[in-house]
Amino acid sequence: MPVNEEAIARPTGIRLWDVAPQNGFALALHGGAGGLIEELSNEGTAAFEEGLAIAHAAGRAILERGGHALDAVCATVEQLENHRLFNAGRGAALTAAGGVELDASVMDGSGQAGAIAASRHAKNPVFVARSVMEKSPHLFLVSPSKEMVIDWGHETAEQEYFITEPRQRQLARIQDSQFAPRHGTVGAVARDSEGRVAAATSTGGMVNQQLGRVGDTPIIGAGNYARNEFAAISCTGDGEAFIRGVVAYDIVARMRYLGSELPDAVAATVDAELTAKHSSGGLVSVGGDGRVVVAHNSPRMFAAFEDENGLVLLT
Ligand code: ASP
Repeated sequence: MPVNEEAIARPTGIRLWDVAPQNGFALALHGGAGGLIEELSNEGTAAFEEGLAIAHAAGRAILERGGHALDAVCATVEQLENHRLFNAGRGAALTAAGGVELDASVMDGSGQAGAIAASRHAKNPVFVARSVMEKSPHLFLVSPSKEMVIDWGHETAEQEYFITEPRQRQLARIQDSQFAPRHGTVGAVARDSEGRVAAATSTGGMVNQQLGRVGDTPIIGAGNYARNEFAAISCTGDGEAFIRGVVAYDIVARMRYLGSELPDAVAATVDAELTAKHSSGGLVSVGGDGRVVVAHNSPRMFAAFEDENGLVLLT
């Protein structure tokens, strides 16, 4: 696959998929809006498709047996965090210091949410974000300690686990040049057979980011949001633009206050908060009725969802 990262960083026209409710449940995931990085360009599309399909199957299995939307999005994101090709967990983009600082958040459509930023010890940041929601009185924790990760029953990992050789070469190349490709991130949204929605998002952030930089991924309403009867949304792209535009919540606000349908709300928010501001990215969303809307204004986005013909994989 030829890689033109500079072109990938520029917004193009919006591409949007709108899938009517299928099975009583629905799941959509993304593996980032950045397209392929140069250092992974010899991997071939099949390796990415396989990773997306495995993650989709993990979440779908939970929904199929009547499980909760929150369990489905966490299981989906876990697979993407464990996969070395995506920018989250193992294989995440490296900070300027050469290590990883991971951000993640979860939100349940009932209104509960949890988030972590600058995580260095949790193998799967998505589970720790969920524990912040379920086991602490807080919503957002920065730099969760190793002891806390262990106390909450989650696996830890050393920096060497997360750092992969292609990401080290990517960092070296970027530190040597002016141009910094930016995107990555993984996320999932689901609607279960009881009509509950949930969203989970996880990232290594922007390659070569300063230590302590936090993007939109763990910020509820910016990179991740869920509200029963309206929608669940997980975003990827220029994090600062998603924060300024409160993108995930802006979509739900259009539905709540303007009465917009999900695809119209998604298109209007992407146009107003990303394209009009020369920022790029994308998102996956599911409506309270199970309608799936996937959109990006970046040239590419890794994503998976089902339509009436089966699994759709975007690479
Ligand atoms: N939105 C992420 C961040 O800003 C990166 C990405 O999705 O590309 O950290």
